[in-house]
Amino acid sequence: MSRVLDTFLDLVRIPSPTGREAGVAAYVADALREAGCAVRVDDTREATGADTGNVIADLPGSLGGGTIALSAHMDCVQPCEGVEPVVSGGVVRSAGETVLGGDDKVGLAAIIEAVRRLAEQGGEHRPLKLLLTVSEEAGLLGAKALAPADAAAALCLVLDADGPVGGIVVGAPSHHTFTATFTGRAAHAGVEPEKGISAITMAADAISRMRLGRIDPHSTANIGSINGGTATNVVAPSCVLTGECRSLDTAFAEAIRADMDAAMADAAAAAGGSVSVEWEHAYPGFTAPADSPEVRLVERSCAAIGVESRTYTTGGGSDANVFAGYGVPTLVLGTGMTNVHSTDECLEVLQLERLADLLVAMARTPE
Ligand SMILES: [Zn+2]
Repeated sequence: MSRVLDTFLDLVRIPSPTGREAGVAAYVADALREAGCAVRVDDTREATGADTGNVIADLPGSLGGGTIALSAHMDCVQPCEGVEPVVSGGVVRSAGETVLGGDDKVGLAAIIEAVRRLAEQGGEHRPLKLLLTVSEEAGLLGAKALAPADAAAALCLVLDADGPVGGIVVGAPSHHTFTATFTGRAAHAGVEPEKGISAITMAADAISRMRLGRIDPHSTANIGSINGGTATNVVAPSCVLTGECRSLDTAFAEAIRADMDAAMADAAAAAGGSVSVEWEHAYPGFTAPADSPEVRLVERSCAAIGVESRTYTTGGGSDANVFAGYGVPTLVLGTGMTNVHSTDECLEVLQLERLADLLVAMARTPE
């Protein structure tokens, strides 16, 4: 069995639901330290609520081109405790009761393998910085709490996209979320409905004024939940709506947000009620031009190991959005993980090997 597969199997057997990554952090920190990295755990436990900080490691290198940051997250979505990995026909799966945890332990295993190989092989390579985060699945909490100075690098590659190695995510959206509370006036629905103002009707009117779904090829909006009212015979005095909008175009994301805000304010005003909306910028977006140095580095390294590369954009966010927001040119790379966030999750061993090969090739490429 290959060493990188052994590492991967060790990692998936260590439970690491979001917020309880300490076991995996200890394993990863030991492995990286043994391979020659300077390893520390940052002081973000209070900010994230996790039982460990992010693991940050440096592997010095003398090759030019600047530091390459490699990132993967240490937490997994549930059900992820008691994973029993099964390797058959070159594919790793869980025994069926849990996710596999390849998201994102494939990234952790490939990083450990790459660092080991660089140390064993000797020779020049670029300095590496490893950013191994907690609680990505709960809203990128570890990456958001990380000190921006700790993410400083010439470029950052987040190993967290599904699909085969060679996939390069060159853009991800800016993402805004809201919680809106509509306030009307309660009244008996049968006796004197005229005295009431239905917050549910207001919210429905607001929704009907919004553009939702896919707004353009790179922009979306959605209502996630609606909760309000108490009983059929009461005009509902309160209704809470949650929703979001995203766009690869940062300014357009703001414009959609403003339109949704206006729809809610107009609906409340039309009914004689009120609405208070709390927006949160969940994460900033990023886009990398096709001819940028970071895209070229990945493409050339894929070619060097005989893997076809492909650039594409995504509608989802990851730690990459946060690192890009810190001003570091960032991409997300395909890792081979398949059917993530489900008990059907699986990983081809070949993809795991390729990911490690790719990381080594990139570290060996001066820019
Ligand atoms: Zn992930």
